[in-house]
Amino acid sequence: MKALVYRGPGALVVEERPKPHAGEGEVVLHVDACSICGTDLRVASGTHRAYANGLGRVPGHEVVGTVVEVGGDVGAKLGEQVFVAPNYGCGHCRACRRGLVNLCEDLRAIGITEDGAFAEYMLLRRDLVVQGNLIKLAPGVDPDEAALAEPLACALRGSRACHTSEEDIVVVYGAGPIGLFHVCLARLAGAAAIIVCEPNAERRERALGFGATEAFGTDFGELRRAVGHDGADVVIVATSVASAQREALQLAATSGRVNFFAGLPRDGSSVELDTNLVHYKELVVTGTTGSTNESCRAALDLIIDGQLKTAPLISARMGLASAQKAFDLAGSGQALKVVIEP
Ligand SMILES: [Zn+2]
Ligand SMILES: [Zn+2]
Repeated sequence: MKALVYRGPGALVVEERPKPHAGEGEVVLHVDACSICGTDLRVASGTHRAYANGLGRVPGHEVVGTVVEVGGDVGAKLGEQVFVAPNYGCGHCRACRRGLVNLCEDLRAIGITEDGAFAEYMLLRRDLVVQGNLIKLAPGVDPDEAALAEPLACALRGSRACHTSEEDIVVVYGAGPIGLFHVCLARLAGAAAIIVCEPNAERRERALGFGATEAFGTDFGELRRAVGHDGADVVIVATSVASAQREALQLAATSGRVNFFAGLPRDGSSVELDTNLVHYKELVVTGTTGSTNESCRAALDLIIDGQLKTAPLISARMGLASAQKAFDLAGSGQALKVVIEP
């Protein structure tokens, strides 16, 4: 089979590999769709810490595939199309017991700690299968659109942490695919205003098309005037910029909710935040990272019910042979989600 393999910084190479086979409790999928994530771009550039010793590994974790081999009675049936929630844990630690596999100290994830889905076939390990990460899709669901349930699930966890609701004024920092998911979720929640802060003019324009009510560049004064005297009920920081985190606390209304959705680069520098803003405004400051099985199911439901359409977020669909082109496009800043169909 063909697989896209990490061979060092800047080198993702299509290679011939033996097709995996399912051992006891395992499942083999034919990969139908796997979208490229910012995480995959970090892998490709050689800056993802899980890939420090990842030579020879196959990335890809936003995946829909068809079951082609099962190792015994595993619940999945041959020919079924499934979405795979990518994260699974040890199964018994405090986080795992609470369904927060994304916080397991021994977190495992397809495409991160083991071979992922930029390949014709992929093996799903027993622990992942028994933890319920395979979610069966009804016939007729577009696999490319369903694959986007994973990044949507991540955004959904951020939105839930902020309890975004009707009449809220919501500010979203960053209008990449994740920022746009946040815009869509805020709209779905009935937010009164969705104000986007994004330095790239094209992305600002696009955010308006996805339901943002206003979009601004990095001029904080302008943004602050748009938000108004009372401040924003919800501020989501979906960009890895320290100043945006600081501004978020300033923009938040009294009893506002803030979500640090994006992490900052681990370059040793720290961010100074005015914690008096948290204290005197009674802010709720949250962080979320990754997806859980439950949030993946909820995100899939939103997509399948048609409440949240992911098709407009798909800029291109390409085969594995065009993987280099696909990664270049995904990393160019011009495209939203690029899906590989191996
Ligand atoms: Zn992702
Ligand atoms: Zn665990």
